[in-house]
Amino acid sequence: MDDKILVTRSSMPPFEEYCNEIKEIWNNRWLTNSGVKHQQLEKELCAFLGVSNLALCVNGHHALECIIETLGLTGEVITTPFTFVSTTNAIVRKGLKPVFCDIKPDDFTIDPEKIEALITEKTSAIMPVHVYGNLCDDDAIEKIAAKHGLKVIYDAAHAFGVFKNGKSSARLGDASMFSFHATKVFHSIEGGAAVFRDDKYYSLLNQWKNFGINGEALELFGGNAKMNEFAAAMGLCNLRHIEEAIASRKEAVTRYRERLENVRGITLSAVQKDVQSNYAYFPAVFDPEVFGFSRNEVMEALAEKGIGARKYFYPLTSSVSGFGCDNAAKETPVALRVSENVLCLPLYEGLGTENVDRICDIILSL
Ligand SMILES: *Cc1c(COP(=O)(O)O)cnc(C)c1O
Repeated sequence: MDDKILVTRSSMPPFEEYCNEIKEIWNNRWLTNSGVKHQQLEKELCAFLGVSNLALCVNGHHALECIIETLGLTGEVITTPFTFVSTTNAIVRKGLKPVFCDIKPDDFTIDPEKIEALITEKTSAIMPVHVYGNLCDDDAIEKIAAKHGLKVIYDAAHAFGVFKNGKSSARLGDASMFSFHATKVFHSIEGGAAVFRDDKYYSLLNQWKNFGINGEALELFGGNAKMNEFAAAMGLCNLRHIEEAIASRKEAVTRYRERLENVRGITLSAVQKDVQSNYAYFPAVFDPEVFGFSRNEVMEALAEKGIGARKYFYPLTSSVSGFGCDNAAKETPVALRVSENVLCLPLYEGLGTENVDRICDIILSL
């Protein structure tokens, strides 16, 4: 028995199911450019997420860049540095300036009370992140955006299948980006999607993701961000099993919470009321003064026993060198403290409570 535990492991449908799904591709030889599987997956995802439009993309990152292009953002975008680098990179790569806002210490999402002070006449949008699947305070963000005429684009890469009072995370803001990367709760190997509040943006995004082509007309300098049929087929298979995948993650998270909730020096993510979670990640923040061991020491102790854990997110995305924001980290003290002390423990479909106990035993015996 291999007793190594990695921090994540991709969900896989039964092999036969995937083979069966791709048979049609062999018959019709339609491999990409909005093929049959692509069309079917868009339809099924719209139904699952409760939205009226969803454009599949090659990955989440390019979905986000295409959203920025489609909405025609300019100037400055208010975002947080406690995210995967993709969020900040998309803003910068599209010629915009990221303005970093601090996060809340309980659920690690953008702190709405700190947004308004960062708005200037150049601000065109707010780009918050539903960190670890925790939903941002969308009511507060929406109010600020409406007052100042700003667009709201959610990085919802972590929030697939999260619902608040029955309302899907995909229905928040002007647009949302989802990632279907192999390590995410739902995946298509590589993949992603853009969802808009206003259906009119769907065809424009499709143009941006396909070189700007509109029939014979060349109207935009678009790139190539199309999802292929094999990825869409994997998505179709995984979507059939999404409820089992989330239930299995929930079982592991429930056990982690039972074991670690009341340990001095360990802070777990707040449980958001009215939110149906997807149990995407299990972050634990270690206070070295109180717990007695730093995040890095906990990570090393786990590694010695063959268990992977990940400093996620670390470092802050505002710390990219040569970027002219060397002081940015100091301006978001909560994000800085969390990124220096947080560790994401292993979590994936099929991890099981026995493995969770093994991991917790090591942490608690330090
Ligand atoms: C995974 C992820 C992305 C990027 O998605 P890809 O599909 O890997 O391109 C962006 N933002 C966050 C928060 C992510 O976790």
